[in-house]
Order: sequence, then structure tokens, then C-alpha cells
Amino acid sequence: MRITFYFGGMDRIARFSFFVVIQMLDLNVCKSGRCKNLGVSKAKEYEYHIRPLGFLAMRCGACSATPPMLDNESFGLMRSHWLRQVGLSTGKLCPGCGAAAIKRFGQSSNGKPRFQCKVCQKTFSNRSSVMKGQEQLAKAILDALSCDQDGENLTQLAANKGVHFDRACEQLKRQAYQVIWQGERANYMASVRFTLPYKGNDNQLWGILTTDILSGRVLHISTTLVPFGLPEQGRYQPCVDAPPLELSSTDSAIELAHKQEQRFLLRQQFDRCDFGSATVRKQSQSHALPVLSAHAHFAVLNALGHGEEGGAHFLSHEVFLRGACITQFSEHVKRHQMALAYVVGETNGDIELSTIRKLGWWQNSWREFRDNAGKTKAYSVLCGNLALEPKEVRLKSAMNALRFIQREVEKLNLAAFTASRVESFAVEFAKRYNQALECC
Ligand SMILES: [Zn+2]
Ligand SMILES: [Zn+2]
Repeated sequence: MRITFYFGGMDRIARFSFFVVIQMLDLNVCKSGRCKNLGVSKAKEYEYHIRPLGFLAMRCGACSATPPMLDNESFGLMRSHWLRQVGLSTGKLCPGCGAAAIKRFGQSSNGKPRFQCKVCQKTFSNRSSVMKGQEQLAKAILDALSCDQDGENLTQLAANKGVHFDRACEQLKRQAYQVIWQGERANYMASVRFTLPYKGNDNQLWGILTTDILSGRVLHISTTLVPFGLPEQGRYQPCVDAPPLELSSTDSAIELAHKQEQRFLLRQQFDRCDFGSATVRKQSQSHALPVLSAHAHFAVLNALGHGEEGGAHFLSHEVFLRGACITQFSEHVKRHQMALAYVVGETNGDIELSTIRKLGWWQNSWREFRDNAGKTKAYSVLCGNLALEPKEVRLKSAMNALRFIQREVEKLNLAAFTASRVESFAVEFAKRYNQALECC
């Protein structure tokens, strides 16, 4: 696509005219699907630092929405970190500025192809392996995983080879991401949130997993863990969330959605959820607020070119996933009418419409469907044109991948590992899930 676009944010603006990945740097923008200010930075109708509901928010005068203010500084650090990883492992983006305008630029001294960014002129080559010992250990770990060895045996393996286990895990993760991120572009996606336990009392990693709903492949998986210290405002703290849902076995999907909406209203702030104690011992690590991790996650999907032709993106029913997704894909929503929808429940085979209801603070319209076995699924289209049959609106591909990863983590008893190790293995299992799909 040939378009003219301003890239680089407020302080460094470059104008160019070729294929670009549009990146959202300012999170304090309007997030209303039909507002002219959707995704627009510093619109004249904005008012910042207000507290209409007790927490720090902004107001868009064009549509009266008052989304919570988010910490752009933390997001900037997270976004740069991720784009650097994507750039170095895929060569699809500049690891410095995130632009997708890359040209070939000869070879490095060891014969690897070099690239140059047409925007910031930085030159780079794809990152490949590190030290031989790590490489060997990573391979040994992969073999051990294939034989279902548990976590205990894996650390022993590292000790025997005299390699730092954490480094090998990092290597494993990089290689897995390299494979996952090289997949074909998708326009129909499903994203689900998850938690994975790690070493320590009530410690959890919070994360998001996205799949291509047509092929079932995992497109990206990320967690709240970042390998640097975040500013206080961007850091996750266990917080007072709403009381847990009181579920009944007879609840249909639309009743679950209703209860969840009621629960969002009881939170002190819509976009703050509690997911456990999540402590990390190292100064060089922190957990980001899930809302910021969600923005970073969707920014990576966007940077990889997913959703480029619009399509649809189905989300687990978590209130801030909508805001993060619509912000990071605001141009797609505006240009191509990318549809976003919340989905609750799963059905099989033929389904029939059973109920239509408006739910929650925003009074979104939800439709519930029932299959022959009486199982229900409800969804609410939040914006855009949905060109799919109700049967095809589902999170199944993402849930299948997630169940595979959770099963593997449990089987290997990895909850006894640190957060970064659990994360590395989760990414490795996501890669394995994709490979298993290809074999079938
Ligand atoms: Zn607005
Ligand atoms: Zn660049």
C-alpha cells in the first residue's frame, strides 16, 4: 500500500511514502469506535488529568468518553523493547525505530545479510545464536522436553553442561519467537488472556495469546514480565479487585457476560485487575500493568502486519482488551472497518440465536447462540463490519493453543521455576503447538 504517513511521534517526525506499519505511541487518545478522534494524539477536544470517577482519566469532548490515563513512558520502554526483539529476529522492522521500511545493505563481516532502515538509517543484521554452550544446552533442553523430562531434570542438565540455565532459557525463547513471528499474516484473529503460576506463594504471570482463527497458528504470546525496571506508574501492584464471580453451573454465556460486566463496575478502576502477588527478586525485571502489556501485545501484532486488510479480532471478555486493541489498530478500524468483538463461551456445530441483550456500562448489544447439545456462546460486536457467520465468531483456536501450553507447563511441573523461565517455556510450547498443527 502506498500512503503518506507521519512516523515517529511528537518529537521526531519523518514523512515518507511507502509501506509502513502504523504505530501508536501515545496511549492517551480517544478509544471510541465511531469518534473522529479514535487513536488521534493530542486532539483539540481532549482534556487531561481529570477524575470523573475517582481515578485519573482524560475526556474526549467530541464523544464525551473518559478513558483512564495511561503511562506513556512505561509503554514507550515496553514498545521499544518488543520492536527491537521483532526487528532483530525477523528483519521485518527496524530494531531502532520500528519502521517497516527496510532495504538490503550488503553483508556483515561474518557473511550475514545486513539491512538498513530507510527512516532512521540504522543498519543491522538478524540476530542468530550466542555462545556455543548455550546453543548446545538449548538443544539438549529441547530434546529433554520432547521426552517429557520435568523441570528438575532440566536444571540438572544445565549444571552438567556448565551453562547458565537462565541464559539457555533466553536463547530458547528467542529461537521460538523467531519461528512464531515468521508466520504468514492473518486478518482474522482471536486473543485470550491467561495466567501461569511460577515459583513463590501465589505468584502468577499474566499474559495474552493470539491465534490466526483460520489456520489455528499462534501469532504472538506475551506476558506482563519485562527484563528491565519500569517506572512506578507502569508497574503492576496487587490491588483490590472486585469480589470473585459467583458462578452457577446453569449460567448461560450471556449470564456470564452480564456477571463479568457487573464485576468490571465494582473495580476501583476499569483497567486494573488483580492477578496474584507476582513478585520478582531481580531489580532488572518487573511486571507491567496488564493494560500496558495488552497495548504492547497488540502493537507487536500490528508491527508484524497482522490485520493489514481489516478482518476481525475476537477478544476474551476483559474490559481493557477492547481499549488496547482498538487503540493499536485504530487505523485499521478506520480504514478497513476491522471488527472487534468480545466472545464468551464455546459451542459446537450448528447454532441458533437464543437471546439478544444490552449489557454493562456501555450498554453493548450481546447475542447468545445455543448448539444442539445446549452449550451457549455469546458475543458483542464492539466496532467495524463483521463479515463472518455467527458460527465462525469464536475463541476456539486461541483456547486450544492455550490449553496445550497450560497442559505442558503442568506436566513438566514448571510452576517451581522463576517467572522468566516459565515465560521462556510457554513461548517454546507455543512454537511446538504451531509445528504440531503443520504436521497434521
Ligand atoms: Zn472521542
Ligand atoms: Zn529505523
